[in-house]
Amino acid sequence: MTSPLGILKKYDIRPYKGRGQSFLIDTNIIEKIIVSAEITGRDQVLEIGAGIGVMTGMIADLADRVIALEIDRKLIHVLSSELAARSNVEILEQDILTYDISLACADRADASGSVTKLRVIGNIPYNISSQILFKLIGYKNEISSMVLMFQREVADRITAMPGTKDYGFLSVIASMHTAVSRVMIVPASCFYPSPKVESAVLRLVFRDRPVVDLQDESHFFRLVKTAFSMRRKTLMNNLKNSDLLLQCSEHDVSSIFDEAMISGQRRAETLTLEEFGRLSNVICSAQKS
Ligand code: SAH
Repeated sequence: MTSPLGILKKYDIRPYKGRGQSFLIDTNIIEKIIVSAEITGRDQVLEIGAGIGVMTGMIADLADRVIALEIDRKLIHVLSSELAARSNVEILEQDILTYDISLACADRADASGSVTKLRVIGNIPYNISSQILFKLIGYKNEISSMVLMFQREVADRITAMPGTKDYGFLSVIASMHTAVSRVMIVPASCFYPSPKVESAVLRLVFRDRPVVDLQDESHFFRLVKTAFSMRRKTLMNNLKNSDLLLQCSEHDVSSIFDEAMISGQRRAETLTLEEFGRLSNVICSAQKS
């Protein structure tokens, strides 16, 4: 197997920062990432940002099939040539932010019509990592688990617990739908070019159901975003002027908080997942009645 640096040299690849190109050059780290994804011979794996295909090839050794997404046409040529001998790899020139993930499993239904869920893996571009995460969470019916590389600070925010400074929108949305764990921290020296920041690999496994059964997911999403919009403000102050409670009189607003058993004087960072879910459901019900 050609080493990552060998491939970069062979094709004279000049990493393009604007696309978040920072290639993993340490194959031990790649190996650990793949092991943490627990890929079996029955798995369909979606790799985001396949780059030069080193990880792609190693996944293909284990999985039934790999769908390798890459946005950069120059790298598509590298991938096609490096992975030409592998019949279980499909290379797609696609932007993950616009790609319809359900297509990746659409043609893979078994005789009973049920579709094997995808495992997602990726050393993803940091400039769009939160957007990618939100998009993936929206495909919970198609995906079983995800192993993704993040900038360390972003990983810390995703895994943060209530009451800590890192706890926020990312932590609440991710943990509502997935069980999150940190696989490892990856030093900058494991990448070429090496980023200015440390990185961390997270594993996110979709729950069978969210922590709270939500009446309206998009409402929940907006509520959490609004609640954290100014961290130092109280919940009441962040919410009362937002479109979420616009139709409500002051009296309605206080009965909403009473019914959800949450004080409006608290700050968003103190609310648990259950409390956010409950508050969203109470507001949705109040607006229906
Ligand atoms: N997996 C490779 C490359 C990681 S760098 C490795 O670990 O070495 C991130 C990769 O994501 C780059 O190859 C970059 O071109 C690709 N990329 C950037 N934006 C993308 C997008 N919107 N959709 C798909 N791939 C993207």
